[in-house]
Amino acid sequence: MNKNSSNIMALAPNTSNKRETVCIFGTGDFGRALGQKMIQSGYPVVYGSRSTQISSLIPKDAEVLSHAEAAQKAAIIIIAIQRQHYNFLTPLAEVLRGKVLVDISNNLKLNQYPESNAEYLAQLLPGSKVVKAFNTVSAWALQSGTLDASRQVFVCGDDVEAKQMVMNIVRALGLTPLDKGSLLAAQEIENYPLQLFPMWKFPIFLSLGLTAFFFLYCVALDIIYTYIYENKDFSFFIAITIPNRVCPVMALILLALVYLPGIFAAIIQLYRGTKYRRFPDWLDKWMLCRKQLGLIALAFASLHAVFTLVSPMRAFVSWRTSKGIISQVLNNKTEPLNHTNAWLSDSYLALGILGYFFFVLLGITSLPSVSNSVNWREFRFVQSKLGYLALILCTAHTLVYGGKWFLSPSAYKWYLPNIYILSLIVPCAVLVVKFVLILPCIDKPLTQIRQGWERNPKYSE
Ligand code: NAP
Repeated sequence: MNKNSSNIMALAPNTSNKRETVCIFGTGDFGRALGQKMIQSGYPVVYGSRSTQISSLIPKDAEVLSHAEAAQKAAIIIIAIQRQHYNFLTPLAEVLRGKVLVDISNNLKLNQYPESNAEYLAQLLPGSKVVKAFNTVSAWALQSGTLDASRQVFVCGDDVEAKQMVMNIVRALGLTPLDKGSLLAAQEIENYPLQLFPMWKFPIFLSLGLTAFFFLYCVALDIIYTYIYENKDFSFFIAITIPNRVCPVMALILLALVYLPGIFAAIIQLYRGTKYRRFPDWLDKWMLCRKQLGLIALAFASLHAVFTLVSPMRAFVSWRTSKGIISQVLNNKTEPLNHTNAWLSDSYLALGILGYFFFVLLGITSLPSVSNSVNWREFRFVQSKLGYLALILCTAHTLVYGGKWFLSPSAYKWYLPNIYILSLIVPCAVLVVKFVLILPCIDKPLTQIRQGWERNPKYSE
């Protein structure tokens, strides 16, 4: 009993720890939302405003004073004002001398000004200690309470003590500060909220372009061709048949595109005989979005699995099955089981299931919570070795399924190859070149280059 109560005492917060007053310049959306959150966290808040009249929107318990009066009451001043109005601060330079100014501003465009807003503020008020923080948090998230401790607040500044003071406030608000170093990092931090899925752009545009191309390709060969030459209307193929052709093709090609840049990188390193020269920009960018390409590929593979599972429910499939049964009944002849076909269909299904299993495993290990819990070697083993295994299985799945069309002349409608033939070009090329690269006579020099050996060292002794 006693032991428990002493534990409770030890865990009880230290309520005597009074928080320092924080001053906020600006009673706009962000100033009010941040002030409210600070008051909830126990900070006395004083606003510096052009108008000292208290409006009903201002958080209860907050004081509103003129800028100069408010600044005198606190060591930390949060500037919740747009950058274009910063020059009103210049006459306040003396009052603000030695104070910590927190710049929370954002811009409307990437790299809108030559210097970051925080650096501009530091130039205007050289006697103050400027810290950049909170700009990646929105007023809406502060007000609606959708912020949680996993939300990072990027902080940077030249004065270590000032930065610590701001990081303490961030922690007190239940958020996680992330020290990004000196004020030089401010421009990068200001650009974060303006970025729109930067790593996803290329994979998404590529997927949309390829999907549109393959979709139209299938429409032309499976619907238009059949309509013109066989006078059959298969327009309903648009709903399930064609998507179920496009999805596996996209999954396979995108998975191969995850491994293709690694192949290019190896060839370039072998050719140059060094790893100390930068790859071309396009290759760097491609390598950086491999995870996104892989995840989109996984989404296509999952759609393919769902489309395949619903296939038996389709009217077209049950019509075809019953047509086969009726023709056997009418001819009074039971078709014997075609063992070759049985083997082929079981094999491609098994290869597809195994390929999908490894595909999902790759997707799971790319989640930050999982990838953070494995070491670099384990991560590489899964992403590289098991990734190639998934590519081999998925390529074999397509080969076994679509292989029969390779030599059949009916597969070349309008002299165009079947979509499965097209889908195998990139994965087969990747696998063949990878096989060549792992031959000992090539793998050995490549491994040496990756360990730092150079064919023509620039700085030889
Ligand atoms: P806002 O609603 O337009 O408020 C800005 C405040 O600045 C005004 O309420 C006003 O306060 C003050 N002000 C306006 N003109 C002034 C001038 N000529 N001289 C001095 N003070 C002036 O803007 P906000 O949305 O709160 O944004 C404020 C800052 O926070 C911006 O830099 C923005 O980039 C940044 N930010 C906003 C969000 C967000 O979600 N809104 C998120 C991150 C960062 P008084 O009337 O009290 O003087």
